[in-house]
Amino acid sequence: MNRINLWFKKRKIKPVPVISAAVLLLVLLIIIINLIIPNEGEPKTLTMKEDNELRTGPAAYYPIIFDVKKGDDFEITDRQDKWFEVKNDNNEKGWIAGWHTNLDIKEDVNPVLKPLKDKVIVLDPGHGGSDQGASSSKNKNVTEKEITLKTAKELKKMLEDEGAKVKMTRDKDEYIKLKDRQEDGDVFISIHNDALDSSGPHGLTVYYHHDSQQDFAKTLHTSINQKSILSDRGVRNENFQVIRQTKMPGVLLELGYISNPTDEDLIVDRKYRHIVESGIVDGLKVYFSN
Ligand SMILES: [Zn+2]
Repeated sequence: MNRINLWFKKRKIKPVPVISAAVLLLVLLIIIINLIIPNEGEPKTLTMKEDNELRTGPAAYYPIIFDVKKGDDFEITDRQDKWFEVKNDNNEKGWIAGWHTNLDIKEDVNPVLKPLKDKVIVLDPGHGGSDQGASSSKNKNVTEKEITLKTAKELKKMLEDEGAKVKMTRDKDEYIKLKDRQEDGDVFISIHNDALDSSGPHGLTVYYHHDSQQDFAKTLHTSINQKSILSDRGVRNENFQVIRQTKMPGVLLELGYISNPTDEDLIVDRKYRHIVESGIVDGLKVYFSN
């Protein structure tokens, strides 16, 4: 006779009903605990523990959609690793890194992702030299060739800060034939500012030519639009020589109308150009991350 039976016998207790009752009690306890702590794994809501931003995708290189404040509450709609897709009361959605929230998520210790590292980006500042491109109707000193070169130089600096290698089809005020506006690289971006006789038209247009360039065009278009306040004229297919003659993903950007007084005020403003340029950098990061 084993010791358990002996123990029961000593106390004059019938072992079977007692053990059954104990097992039943244990099962009940487990059920109750599970009801009290629902879905241990996946949280349903989160609260910001500091000011931060919601982004269009689950990584820091995705464009910012809007700012969020410490104490803001959100419903969680999706999760990818340490990033959460949330929505607010207005049904606006965006992604936030878990370590900015009340959830117990450790910040990524991986080195910061640099999707542009060692990518070769060819910038083509439109016009130059004797070809001044479009000019302003209200300010004769403002010419397209000058704005496109400023934009390209500013963009070059920002891209190099991200580890990219930048080639320019021109880096000074000189005339370059269209057929010579080519360099080897990963992507090609031709920079322009539109103009028309009428001062009415305004906004941003992203042109591509080959079907293989369409994804690149759409990605840049989305990112620039997310930041810039230029009106949106969309993504269009056009037979421009500089994008036709390259096999690379290539676009021709018309970054606002120099012939429109409102667009022109933006184009000549260094701070505003920086917003558009950072939209281009965002787009390149998204493009090279996918
Ligand atoms: Zn142009």
